[in-house]
Amino acid sequence: MTEGVVEEGEPVSGRYFEPGSARAFPATMTISKDFATIRFERDGVAKCSVREIRGVGARLGSVPRRIELEGGALFEAPADAEITVGPGRASPMLARVFRLESSWRTVAILVVATSVLVAVIFRYGMPVMANVAARVTPAPISAIMDAGTLETVDRTLFSATELSAAEQRDLTERFTTLAPHADTGSRDLVLLFRSSPLIGANAFALPGGTVIMTDELIAVARDDDEIDGVLAHEIAHVEARHTLQTIYRAAGLAIMVGVIAGDSGQMVDTLLSQAAALQQLSYSRAFEIEADLRSVELMLAAGEGRNPLAFIDLLDRLVEEMAPGASEQEEGFFSTHPGNPNRRETVLQHARSLGWDG
Ligand SMILES: [Zn+2]
Repeated sequence: MTEGVVEEGEPVSGRYFEPGSARAFPATMTISKDFATIRFERDGVAKCSVREIRGVGARLGSVPRRIELEGGALFEAPADAEITVGPGRASPMLARVFRLESSWRTVAILVVATSVLVAVIFRYGMPVMANVAARVTPAPISAIMDAGTLETVDRTLFSATELSAAEQRDLTERFTTLAPHADTGSRDLVLLFRSSPLIGANAFALPGGTVIMTDELIAVARDDDEIDGVLAHEIAHVEARHTLQTIYRAAGLAIMVGVIAGDSGQMVDTLLSQAAALQQLSYSRAFEIEADLRSVELMLAAGEGRNPLAFIDLLDRLVEEMAPGASEQEEGFFSTHPGNPNRRETVLQHARSLGWDG
């Protein structure tokens, strides 16, 4: 197609829409040198100078091609219609667009480029969106999510703790020496104990500040520092809103846009169904490293003499106890808190950089 040349064609059958109307008239369109002539039902004739044709829809699969005409009228032709409207006196830019739209190869390239773009948005954009959504989620919404999740998991995964009242009091006291060093805004940190042979040794951080620790995890611990280290790790997840971010990433873009736009109330139901899958909600390794490092900081801030590496000892013991080829559910803590091979080294280096010399 040469710029400025309009190819004349046979009449093309299609449908004509008058400006601003959704009513379609069966019609034919003939393109001559200067005009597109549309003849429709009851001898109606609409003429439109070719230079006023604003766009010809690209040929895309079986999608009808739409030709925008002067004043907002529309002619819709079958997908396979031969329409070659030259750019007329349109700008060279528009001419290029016409040529682009008519090329299948270009369409294929655009499809690939779009896929790459979407992949990039998911890889880099989703985490950013999830972070923003997590930060704008009001504390009362997080609290509702905690209550809803707890109600569900207490029915499905957990049973009452078998710890004595004295044990619970002691652990709660230790938890409250760590909690004030974290900045969780208006979300209150609360520690709950549950038993769960199904889940095994694990701990959970809910979005609103509820931390749940299983009896099974406590049973594996050899000293208080090991437990405190895990609790500090969970507090770090709450502080950095890792659970919310993980839920949002799983829930998808539409939910996040709603939350960011201020519709979080309506999203609670959807989010709850995500949060209820607590034991399947696995943090990213990046979140795990962040929580590990923050755990060290909280342990050191909570008082001298604490061993910020103790929880790594506990985790190592859990790995040893893990049956070879254990399923994800049997992996307990690691199913929701995936480790990395350098976990101990990373934690040790951070503790040393903060002046720990144990
Ligand atoms: Zn974790």
